[in-house]
Amino acid sequence: MTPTCENPYAAGAAYLDGRYMPVGEARIPVTDWGYRRSDVTYDVVGVWDGAFFRLDDHLRRFRRSMEALHMRPAESDAEIRAVLERIVALSGLRRAYVAMDCLRGAPPPGALRHPAFGRAYLSCYAVPWVSVASEEMATRGMHLMIPKVRRIPPESFDPRVKNFHWGDLTEGMFEARDAGADFAILLDGEGHVTEGAGFNVFSVTGGVVATPARGALEGVTRLSVMELCAELGLPLEVRDIPAEEFRAADEIFACTTAGGIMPAARIDGRIMGNDRPGPISTRLRDRFWQKRAEGWHATPVDYAAHAA
Ligand code: PLP
Repeated sequence: MTPTCENPYAAGAAYLDGRYMPVGEARIPVTDWGYRRSDVTYDVVGVWDGAFFRLDDHLRRFRRSMEALHMRPAESDAEIRAVLERIVALSGLRRAYVAMDCLRGAPPPGALRHPAFGRAYLSCYAVPWVSVASEEMATRGMHLMIPKVRRIPPESFDPRVKNFHWGDLTEGMFEARDAGADFAILLDGEGHVTEGAGFNVFSVTGGVVATPARGALEGVTRLSVMELCAELGLPLEVRDIPAEEFRAADEIFACTTAGGIMPAARIDGRIMGNDRPGPISTRLRDRFWQKRAEGWHATPVDYAAHAA
C-alpha cells in the first residue's frame, strides 16, 4: 500500500519520541547510539484481523529488556499500549507488524561519553504484516542448515533481551544462502542449538517436542507453542539440544511473531519424513491458527477511537 490522499498513513504509521507521523517520515539522528552502537532494544507484536496477539506479553518483555539495558523512556506501559493502538488505527491496517524500539539517544555535547547520559526514547511503527518465510517455504517446509558461525554467548549479551546485535545471525543467513538453504540455525559454543534470525526452534523426536532452554530469546510464539503442547497432550522438554540430535530429528519447526509456526522439511540436506511439514508440526500450526481465529489472547484494536 502507498500513501493516499484519503489516508497519509496507509503505508504505515510511526510514533517517534512523542510525535506521530507517516512511517516514511520517521528518521533517527545519525549520532544516536541506538544506531551507532546498536544500543537499542525492541519488541514486535502482530496484529491479525484487527486484533493484537498477546499484547501484554510483548509489553512485559519490552519493559524487562529496557530495564536490563538501564533505559527509562518517558512513556509508561499503559502509554506505550495506547501508542501502539493509535499507530495501528491511524494506518487502518487489519494485519500489521508493529515494532516498538527504545533507543539510547546520545550524551549531550560536552557530557561524558557514557550511556548513562543518553536520553532513551521510543520509536514505534506499524506497517503491513510481514512474514519471515515466503509462502512457498511455508507450504513445502523450510530447508534449514547449521552454519559455522556460532551465536553470541549469553555471557556476552543476554539473548532474552531482544536486540540488534545481529552480526552472527546475518552471517548465518549468508552461509545458508551459499548452502542453498532457506535459514540457518545457530549453535552455541558447546554445540547446542539456539535459534535463527528472528525465530525460535523446536525439534520432535519419537513424539517428544523439545526446545532449547537457553541461548535464545524467550519468544512469545514459543510460549504459545508450549501452551498448545499442554493442550494437545504432547510431551515437551525444555533443555539443551545437541546438534547431532537436532540433525537426526523426526521433525523441526520454527516459530515467530512474523509467521507463526513454520515447519521444516530438511536439515543440512537431510530430508525429514516425506520432505513436507511433519504431522506434529502441522497439527500445532493448524491448532495455532484455529485458536487465533477464535480470538485466543487477542486484544481488538479500537480503530474508531483513533480516527485520523
Ligand atoms: N529469536 C529471535 C532472535 C527473534 O528476533 C525473534 C523475533 O523476532 C524470535 C526468536 C521469536 O520471538 P517472538 O515469538 O516473540 O516473535
